[in-house]
Amino acid sequence: MPTLILTENFEKFTSDIIIGIEVHIQLNTATKLFCSCASKREDAPNTRTCQTCLGHPGSKPLVNKKAIEFAAMLALALHCKINPEIRFSRKVYFYPDLAKNYQITQFEVPLGENGCIILDSGKKIKIERIHLEEDPASLIHPAGIEKSQYTLIDYNRSGIPLCEIVTAPEMHSPEEAREFMNKLKIILQYLKIFDENFCVIKADANISIKESGYIRSEIKNITGFKEIEDALAYEIQRQKQAIQNNEKLIQDTRGWNPDNKTTIRLRTKETEADYGYIIDPDLVPIQLSEKFIKQIQQLMPELPEQKIHKFIHTHKIAETDAKVLAAEYRLAELFEQIAVEVSPQIAAKWLRRELTRVVNYNKMNLSQLKIDSKHLIELFSMIEKNEITETVGQDIMNQLILKPFSPKEYVQKNNLAKIQDKTQLESICKEIISKNAKVVQDYKNGKQEALHFLIGQVMKQMKGKADAKLLKELFEKMI
Ligand SMILES: [Zn+2]
Repeated sequence: MPTLILTENFEKFTSDIIIGIEVHIQLNTATKLFCSCASKREDAPNTRTCQTCLGHPGSKPLVNKKAIEFAAMLALALHCKINPEIRFSRKVYFYPDLAKNYQITQFEVPLGENGCIILDSGKKIKIERIHLEEDPASLIHPAGIEKSQYTLIDYNRSGIPLCEIVTAPEMHSPEEAREFMNKLKIILQYLKIFDENFCVIKADANISIKESGYIRSEIKNITGFKEIEDALAYEIQRQKQAIQNNEKLIQDTRGWNPDNKTTIRLRTKETEADYGYIIDPDLVPIQLSEKFIKQIQQLMPELPEQKIHKFIHTHKIAETDAKVLAAEYRLAELFEQIAVEVSPQIAAKWLRRELTRVVNYNKMNLSQLKIDSKHLIELFSMIEKNEITETVGQDIMNQLILKPFSPKEYVQKNNLAKIQDKTQLESICKEIISKNAKVVQDYKNGKQEALHFLIGQVMKQMKGKADAKLLKELFEKMI
């Protein structure tokens, strides 16, 4: 009897859902991939163009070295093998967003192969390849894609470098796909090769379910990290519903409509063979020598995994705090600046809980946050030295995020230092006790919350400056 050998495909064909993703990341280079036009965004249409990115006959592309460096950094961060010699190819097809009628990309030999991203569960999602290509122009439909009488073309985007990442079909739920995208985003933040405020990240996801015998649909151009989870969740439901209705699924390419949260068929699936690929004769092969890779390794910053390890072992903070801080580049950066001056535990607690609370409340983005670590050091060290209460600290944090100022001077000027004078506090406690006879009785009857109310009353009167621990002791003694 033949032995059953479990191959890598075994898991694939026993899972109910199979998802693979292709991600396109706009790299944050100053100039385009094959010409010296600026890749800065937000500009009047068709003002950043030249013969090369408009595809004039006879124009010659020249590779942007920075884009190669950025892609190599990403390949290393994703644990890919970098190929020693790469070439660019022309993907030939006609579409108005391509003035040359071909897109320059990498087909035969990609820049990097065989990498991975590791999810929190420890599961490895394989990255099959990572390559560089140029972005096409943007097509603008003034009255929406369905109603417009005409289409405008903006070639400013034409030629901006994109890094494409292709995963193996190894994700089994929309949540895993979202986690994959989040992990990728954090790595991009650390590498500083992608500007969240200007650059675009788009994903194509292919998905199939067991019930159909794994007939794939590909969803194109999903922008945003929540969108990918929503698009996949919708598509799973659609495919399941179709099977239940005895409809036959066919392989197709679909578009995601974020407004009504549905996918629509664009075309039945083309395969790579439908595109003509030829080696671009204008671009010579590029050698990525060991020396070059060593240089790139030296440019690499510490990545999230290394930060977590350092935060736990050098700064001695809890693993959960370390993970939360490392999951946002800006938080990790602030933590490292602050933890050399203030207790790392206080820094971790206040950055993780209070700073993020205020950022979320104000609907701000941590990457846009203009906050001076010097001011946070002043604030946290007053808390560490027990000079101000947590309430006053929180109030200062609320304001600090909106405009810079010195917390130390602010506390002095507004007389906000913590009040620890027992006699002064005792007389206020007495006053509060006499005004709240019913609450005092509740406390005597065993209602603990009554004590919190009384402490709250003193705090209110003292503008949050009283030592809450001391108040608790005083009340317990006096009642
Ligand atoms: Zn150009």
